[in-house]
Amino acid sequence: MFNKEALVIGLGISGCAAARMLADAGYNVTCFEKESHIGGYLFEETRPNGIRVQSCGPHIFHTDNESVYAFLRRFGSFYPYTHRVLAQVDKKLVPLPLNRHSLEMLFGEERTALLLARIHAFWSDRKRIAVDELINSKDSHLADLGRYIVENILTININRKSSGSFAYADDSYMNDAYVDITEDDNYYEDSIQAMPMQGFMKVMEKMIDHPAITTYLNMDGLTRISLLEESGVVLFDGAPFKGPVVYTPTIDKLFDYRFGDLRFRGNIITFQDLDSDFSNPCAVIVRPGDPESVRVYESKQMTLQDLPGKTTVCMEAPYVSAVKGVYEPFEPDLSSESMELYRKYHKLSRQFPSLALLGRMACYENQSISESIEQVMEFVSRL
Ligand SMILES: Cc1cc2nc3c(=O)[nH]c(=O)nc-3n(C[C@H](O)[C@H](O)[C@H](O)COP(=O)(O)OP(=O)(O)OC[C@H]3O[C@@H](n4cnc5c(N)ncnc54)[C@H](O)[C@@H]3O)c2cc1C
Repeated sequence: MFNKEALVIGLGISGCAAARMLADAGYNVTCFEKESHIGGYLFEETRPNGIRVQSCGPHIFHTDNESVYAFLRRFGSFYPYTHRVLAQVDKKLVPLPLNRHSLEMLFGEERTALLLARIHAFWSDRKRIAVDELINSKDSHLADLGRYIVENILTININRKSSGSFAYADDSYMNDAYVDITEDDNYYEDSIQAMPMQGFMKVMEKMIDHPAITTYLNMDGLTRISLLEESGVVLFDGAPFKGPVVYTPTIDKLFDYRFGDLRFRGNIITFQDLDSDFSNPCAVIVRPGDPESVRVYESKQMTLQDLPGKTTVCMEAPYVSAVKGVYEPFEPDLSSESMELYRKYHKLSRQFPSLALLGRMACYENQSISESIEQVMEFVSRL
């Protein structure tokens, strides 16, 4: 039945989804993951106190794409989850994205009414307005509000796009750079927001549990393939490989850093186990002014585990530049210089028709879980 062959390098969510969709499409799929476990940035571990934590920071599944959600639910059940984030600003805890309630806490009712009226005059049909739109609005009150957010909330972890607009470092920060004109304190706006009952790892394990999928852990996929530039052929263990080769790690590594290293940022997370039911009022607290810990997330608020008297908080240090072998590449740097370097690698990769670069590292862009899966769906549908 499985008479076609495919390779997948890297088993984060992109690689796992690709392996499964290729297997479902009748391919025999051989996968390589350099770590001793699958999961990539969605890796989870269980603390000694039984709390399940997401080792690389909080991840919430959110999408407007029904078919992505249907795909994930084949591998585990999900519960509806509304993500709430508070920011510590001026010794107050205010909802993010800043909403009517936050503005009143920070500026009082009168100024809030004025700001909201002005926002309404500019964007009568919109609920959320981005910081750069406020700054560029040519309205001094709104521009001041935009600058206030940049200086007091987006102080750390901001990623400035080459266009000059603000992009947050990763999906879990993206809505910090918005103002919501209502009292809505739901961090995401997507119609589907959910968490896997047993965690993302179980979903991914089940995803690649298929008779046509063979997985090699602790295996650098780049030691098994080589690229022949003259012919555009990919060799697998020295022999020409005819099927699709899905590659999800960083693109510069694929070409042995020929044009130089792409810039990534890394992060450091430390965990603290506490003897209490809960530590924080919600899952995530952003602390823009804190040089030690810019974000604290309490896993139990997201996992809904029934473990009385126990909780774990995860402290996230400000981003650092990723250093090969020290801090894992975390998020792409979106400056024009970096994007130019990325485009050189991308152009080179197009010489290899069987090579599919998928996922946030290979495509050098911030992707949500949903976007990563959508990209894989689109790729497999074209085969
Ligand atoms: C802190 C943070 C928070 C986020 N929060 C959210 C959120 O709340 N909601 C959301 O939708 N998205 C969120 N995202 C985005 C989400 O993490 C990504 O969309 C998703 O994890 C991308 O998966 P991937 O498979 O493309 O990449 P990765 O997860 O990076 O997987 C790449 C895999 O390749 C492996 N690998 C590397 N080199 C090799 C090699 N040479 N050979 C074999 N294997 C190799 C790696 O070990 C890794 O397992 C967040 C991202 C970050 C960084």
